[in-house]
Amino acid sequence: MTEEYKVLIGGEWVKAGSGEMMDIINPATGEVIAKAPKCGPADVDKAVGAAVQAAPAWAAKTVGERSKVLLKLSQLIMGHHEELAKLETMEHGSPIRKTMNFDVPLCAEQFEYFAGVARAMTGETLPVGPWCMSMTVREPLGVVGLITPWNFPALMVVWKLGAALVTGNACVVKPPSIAPLTTLRLGELAMEAGVPAGVVNVITGPGDTVGEALVRHPDVAKIGFTGDTVTGRRIMNVASDTVKQVGLELGGKNAFIVLADADIDSAVEGAVWSAFFNSGQVCAAASRFYIHESLYDEFAAKFVAAAKLVRYGDPTNMETVMGPLAYAGHRDKVESYIEEAKKEGAKLLLGGKRPDTPDTKKGFFVAPTVFGNCNNSMQFMQDEIFGPVVGLVSFKTPEEAVALANDTRYGLSASVWTKDVRTGLALAGQIKAGTVWVNEHLIVFCETPWGGCKQSGWGKDLSTMVLEEYTMTKHIYIDLIGQPMKPWYGLLK
Ligand code: NAD
Repeated sequence: MTEEYKVLIGGEWVKAGSGEMMDIINPATGEVIAKAPKCGPADVDKAVGAAVQAAPAWAAKTVGERSKVLLKLSQLIMGHHEELAKLETMEHGSPIRKTMNFDVPLCAEQFEYFAGVARAMTGETLPVGPWCMSMTVREPLGVVGLITPWNFPALMVVWKLGAALVTGNACVVKPPSIAPLTTLRLGELAMEAGVPAGVVNVITGPGDTVGEALVRHPDVAKIGFTGDTVTGRRIMNVASDTVKQVGLELGGKNAFIVLADADIDSAVEGAVWSAFFNSGQVCAAASRFYIHESLYDEFAAKFVAAAKLVRYGDPTNMETVMGPLAYAGHRDKVESYIEEAKKEGAKLLLGGKRPDTPDTKKGFFVAPTVFGNCNNSMQFMQDEIFGPVVGLVSFKTPEEAVALANDTRYGLSASVWTKDVRTGLALAGQIKAGTVWVNEHLIVFCETPWGGCKQSGWGKDLSTMVLEEYTMTKHIYIDLIGQPMKPWYGLLK
């Protein structure tokens, strides 16, 4: 029988007020694997109410006390390593090789990181005068809404939840409607770790009702959002009614620049990794490849040869490195971009069709797809496809490569491949993106800030910078001398 999940509100597992449920589909098989509550605005209101009740006591704990809860949660995640990995593989189609070795251990590590780093958070004393003392303190925001995408269902919520919790906020989490199960399980583990009832609430349902009700809610101080740029724009609009803070981690169309002196074999390895990891469903995936004309043919041939070796198929097989796309509609969207690229005159070098093997027949698979002879005026070179589809462009000078890389509405990440570190650094300075890697692409650490510019959003996840995103800086002024000596009082006398 299909398992029926409930949502977490105020420490209780409950159904949606309407009783409605949504099907959760395994994208590798097309089968319904579970049902999750299809909540609505009334459920959001209950979850926010529970968070409002719980917030003051959680904020009043010491950071050390909150930190210990996060450490316990980190241990519980590793204690349920295989179970969580299998759940994410089932609901999202990520290969088990990835969820076991990447997603789940990283989730545990993120909680550890936030548990530690928040304890080093400080305020300032400010030198405004001998007659007074001015200082800043960091305070929790209160209730925060965390809205997350499906491409890394667990990791994306942990990035936000860890920072929001350790800084003393109560959270209402809205996971992706197509893949909410891992987040619900994380909510359960959070309770087991000692997060008090109401401090973490998880409500499932469609973005345009549940997500939007959360953004609209007057008692929610901030929305931490990761998702599509179009949704981010809508969230900014809705949040403006209550002048709510929003953190926006949005889409990307990321450039991969191979200079004439690059080590071509490592660039090819990096290219395959950054284009096809998670089936290209990564905000920072490399999708626009700019290759120096002297290397173009060799790079294209080696890249295609290496991409052919990517083992896609059944994600529950430990040998599989690339699974399906997350849902049928997304597969269709990716395929429509492939057709568009063909029409625009891009030369298909690899893939471009559904694989036809026994273990990919029922799922939402697209094979690794590489186009050559591309240019930036092609629509598929401007839009975020969010699938295993990339285009190659040849350039003559580093200046041209930078101009091509910057010719996008996005600004999330880019990489430069060169043996000359000085050139790499110079180009990194000229590329408009939140992260530029030199001789690497798609590597993120807890310690390093993550977030884009332009239409890739604003604000930072990870690093010490995220602590500022989930706290308010309050200035406190203390008079030290008493009234008679204050010259400005004379202005009214
Ligand atoms: P999406 O915008 O469709 O959905 C993200 C979340 O927002 C989901 O939980 C969804 O239900 C909710 N939502 C949808 N409409 C809403 C509304 N009107 N109000 C409030 N919430 C709403 O994005 P997606 O398809 O789930 O994820 C893919 C996108 O996420 C890609 O664009 C990708 O680049 C981006 N992403 C960015 C980063 C980053 O760090 N910059 C990381 C991962 C993914």
